[in-house]
Amino acid sequence: MGNNSWEARADEYSLYGFTDLPSVHERGAVVVTHGEGPYVFDTKGRKYLDSNSGLWNMVAGFDHPGLIKAAQDQYARFPGYHAFFGRMSDQTVLLSEKLVEVSPFDRGRVFYTNSGSEANDTMVKILWFLHQAEGKPQKRKILTRQNAYHGVTAVSASMTGKPYNSVFGLPLPGFLHLSCPHYWRNGKPGETEEQFTARMAAELEATIIKEGADTIAGFFAEPVMGAGGVIPPSKGYFQAVAPILKKYGIPFIADEVICGFGRTGNTWGSQTYDFMPDAIISSKNITAGFFPMGAVILGPELADRVQAASEAIEEFPHGFTASGHPVGCAIALKAIDVVMNEGLADNVVRLAPRLEAGLAEIAKNPNIGELRGVGYMWALEAVADRATKTPFASTLSVSERIANTCTDLGLICRPLGQSVVLCPPFILTEGQMDEMFEKLDKALKKVFAEVA
Ligand SMILES: *Cc1c(COP(=O)(O)O)cnc(C)c1O
Repeated sequence: MGNNSWEARADEYSLYGFTDLPSVHERGAVVVTHGEGPYVFDTKGRKYLDSNSGLWNMVAGFDHPGLIKAAQDQYARFPGYHAFFGRMSDQTVLLSEKLVEVSPFDRGRVFYTNSGSEANDTMVKILWFLHQAEGKPQKRKILTRQNAYHGVTAVSASMTGKPYNSVFGLPLPGFLHLSCPHYWRNGKPGETEEQFTARMAAELEATIIKEGADTIAGFFAEPVMGAGGVIPPSKGYFQAVAPILKKYGIPFIADEVICGFGRTGNTWGSQTYDFMPDAIISSKNITAGFFPMGAVILGPELADRVQAASEAIEEFPHGFTASGHPVGCAIALKAIDVVMNEGLADNVVRLAPRLEAGLAEIAKNPNIGELRGVGYMWALEAVADRATKTPFASTLSVSERIANTCTDLGLICRPLGQSVVLCPPFILTEGQMDEMFEKLDKALKKVFAEVA
């Protein structure tokens, strides 16, 4: 690796997010220059099938002409504006109407951010603002689950239920993490899935009673946990927790940053798992990854309460300079149209069974303990012993080795704990899906032969 190489320059001047640095120093960074459909190309001319849609978000691939044109057209028309002081761009107005129209709500209001983290952060502030305005300033605690991923700002990292946040001295006080509803990993010996779900619900209710419902501002959940390892809820989980939240007057917020806009086979993950949240957090594929944007979509009840509180306090003192950016909104309008009306969401519905079947075939490998997922989001979890679900020694870095071997074969996939995640773009063809299966299978066999 020459001193003047792209890899060396990436290493010298930039910081990476969530990156195992020794492994990058050893292997060199991948510096990406452009893409074609679901493929990206690096500075060495190598081509990779990106089975992770970038970071879950590039669902229309890396060169979609309609999205590029929507951006170019809006840049030519009006390249930037804010949404403060009673002003906002026409594109912002159009996008809010569209988001409420495609949401599960019959009415609602939308607030824009630049990221999913900020959208969760904003939602927490909305809840604090609301409860305070309603005379309950002590109603501030936030409930999430272990393994949840809600982002990286100080508040959204506190909501994230991962041990790595302890390096920041997080979570902040008042952010409580319930158990992760992952039956395969967390079920007790002899416990049925129904009993497991009942135990999760009982834990929620016991926590509410112990803490006091009047101290809890809200409950946040991803319909399917994404960055926690693609963990669908145990059977009946949301049907069990939703009535408890309602009973104690605790708003239920669905973090649909990954699930939203088709990833689970419906527009929203809350539709796939058949529950009605009080608000939705959206980001990632809201713009098909072509612009940084997040959105808080409030359902009718929260929208009315926030409106009343804002009028009483005279303003809602929150907003980002680029909230509701017209170019982002124009791209999001186009992205929603492309996903919902140009066959992308249909592809997920049509090809999800093929994706599942192909992965199930690969998962027959005795070192795969669980294949889990839904729609176009899946994980294969590696185990040293399938019967006892014993993981490999963490020093073996099995999932990193699998992902690195895949990269060498021209397939990008992501290690998460002892799992490998596949969440392909919605434009993937059947031939490209087969390419993904072949390369993944080859990498798994190679790595398990080395470590097992
Ligand atoms: C990625 C993600 C976030 C954070 O979004 P950023 O844009 O990275 O800040 C929040 N929630 C979920 C479920 C996510 O997957």
